[in-house]
Amino acid sequence: MILGQNLIDGAWVGSDNLRASDDLDGQSFAQATAAQVDDACRAARCDFRAYSGKSRTERATFLRTIAEQMDVLGDEITQTGMAETGLPEARLVGERGRTTGQLRMFADLIEETGYLDIRKEGALPDRTPLPRPDLRLTHKAIGPVAVFGASNFPLAFSTAGGDTASALAAGCPVIVKGHSAHAGTAELVGQAIAKAIEICGMPAATFQILQGSGREVGSALVQQPEITAVGFTGSLAGGRALYDLCHARSNPIPFYGELGSVNPMFCLPDAMRARATEIGAGWAASLTMGAGQFCTNPGVAVMLKGPDADALETACVAALNDTAEQKMLTDGILGAYEQGVREFRDLMVEVTSCSAATGKRAAVPALFKVSAAEWMANPKLQHEVFGAAGIIVLCDDTEQMQQLAECLEGQLTLTLHLDDSDAALAKSLMPILEEKAGRLLANGYPTGVEVCSSMMHGGPYPASTDVRATSVGTLAIVRWLRPVSYQNIPDALLPDELKGLSA
Ligand code: NAP
Repeated sequence: MILGQNLIDGAWVGSDNLRASDDLDGQSFAQATAAQVDDACRAARCDFRAYSGKSRTERATFLRTIAEQMDVLGDEITQTGMAETGLPEARLVGERGRTTGQLRMFADLIEETGYLDIRKEGALPDRTPLPRPDLRLTHKAIGPVAVFGASNFPLAFSTAGGDTASALAAGCPVIVKGHSAHAGTAELVGQAIAKAIEICGMPAATFQILQGSGREVGSALVQQPEITAVGFTGSLAGGRALYDLCHARSNPIPFYGELGSVNPMFCLPDAMRARATEIGAGWAASLTMGAGQFCTNPGVAVMLKGPDADALETACVAALNDTAEQKMLTDGILGAYEQGVREFRDLMVEVTSCSAATGKRAAVPALFKVSAAEWMANPKLQHEVFGAAGIIVLCDDTEQMQQLAECLEGQLTLTLHLDDSDAALAKSLMPILEEKAGRLLANGYPTGVEVCSSMMHGGPYPASTDVRATSVGTLAIVRWLRPVSYQNIPDALLPDELKGLSA
C-alpha cells in the first residue's frame, strides 16, 4: 500500500507540502522539506561506518533480500508503474527482472575480492639508495551517495536500479530522490528495500527516499556536506545543473551523470546496396520502441545519397506511418517532443505523414531528411529530441561521411551497418568512432543494453559527465569506491582483504 511519505532513518514521515498524482487517483505524496533533506543526510553519514563495516557476505545477502522483497511486491509494483508511466505490463515485468538481476549480479560480484583491485608491493629494506616500505592498496566505500533515477526506466534506472545496487554493494548508504513521474513506484520499491533492511539487520539509514517535484529537493540534496558522490540518470539540462552544483561546492564531489544521446548509425555503401530496405525497417522498429523514449534510441542514420538511401527511406517511412500512436511518459516529455518535432519541421524535410495523435499523452513518430552539410552546420539538429524522431543524413561521398564522424559530439553508442566489402571505409572510421562513444555496434540497433561485465554504458560528454564511468554492468561499482594505500601498517590493523598477503 502506498503511504505517500518519505523514508528517513528507518521511519516513513510526511510533510505539509503535498502533491497529488492524477495517475494514481489523486494519491498525495509528501514532498520532502529542507529540514528532512538535512535529517536524511545526517542519518546516512551516521550509519555510513556501520554499513560499510558489514562484511561483503552480509551486504551480498542484503542485496539478494532486496531482490526477493521486490518480487514479493511484484504485482503492485507493476500495476502502479503501468498507471504512472503508461508503459505496458510486459515491459515492466521484464524491467523488474532486469532490476532484481542487477541486484543479484552485484551480490555475486562482492562475494569475491576481484572488484577491490588489491595490490601489494612488499618491503625491500635493503634496497639502495632508499629502502622500500611495505605497501598495500585496496578500495573503500566513498560515503553516502545520492541517486536520481530517470522517468523512462521506473525500475532499472530508479530506486533500486543500477546506481543504488552498485552503491549499496560498495558499502555506501544511498539516498534516492524519488522521480516525480513515478513517485508511487519509487515508494513501493523503497518499501521493499526498507523490509530488506529490517530482515538483514542493516543500519536504519542504509537506504532512504525523499520525494520531490521541482528542483528544490534535488538541488539541496547534492549540496549537503555529507553527500560524497551522486549518480544521476536523466536529461542533459537537469544533469548539467546538478553537476555544476556539485562542482561549485566548497568540497566538490564526483557527479556521475548518464545523460542523453542521438546514437548515430553509419550505413556503409555495400551494406546499403545489399539490404537498405531491411536496415530501414529495422531502424523504424528500434526508433519507435517504447515511444522512442530510450537514451540509446538511434535518432540519426548517416548514408550516401542515392537510390539505396531512397530505398531505406521508403522502407522506414512505410513502417513508421503504420506505427500506432504511443503514450509518452509525462506531459512534460510529450510537450518537449512536440516542440522538438516542430523545430525539426522548420529546418528539414519531413518524410513521414502520420496523422496527429489523439489519445491521452500520445505521440506519433516523425522522420526527417537533410544534407550532411546542413546537419553539420546546425547544432540544433544534433541534439536529442526524446521520443521517436529520426533524421536521415545524406552525404555526398565517403570523405564527407568521415568529416561528419569527426564533428560528432560524445555519444552513448555509435553503430556501423557494414558488409565485408565495406572493411576499408569501416577501418578508417573506427579510430574516430572510438573517440566519440562508449559502445560501438555492428549490424544491429543500440536499444537494449546487456547487463554484464563487459558493458560500457556511458560516453564522452554530453553522453555522460565522466567519460571513464558506466552506469550499467559490474564496472559501475568503481564509481563508489576510492583507493586507499596502507604503508607499513601492522597486519592486525589492515582491512581483512589485505591481511597476510604474500609479496
Ligand atoms: P530529468 O527531467 O532530467 O529528471 C531526472 C531527475 O532529475 C528527476 O528526479 C528530476 O526531478 C531531477 N532533476 C532534473 N533537473 C533538475 C534540476 N535542474 N535540479 C534538480 N533536480 C533536477 O530526466 P527524465 O525526463 O526523467 O529522463 C529522460 C532523460 O534521461 C532523457 O534525456 C534520456 O535520454 C535520459 N536517460 C539517460 C539514460 C542513460 O543511461 N544515459 C538512461 C535513461 C534515460 P523531477 O522529479 O522533479 O522531475
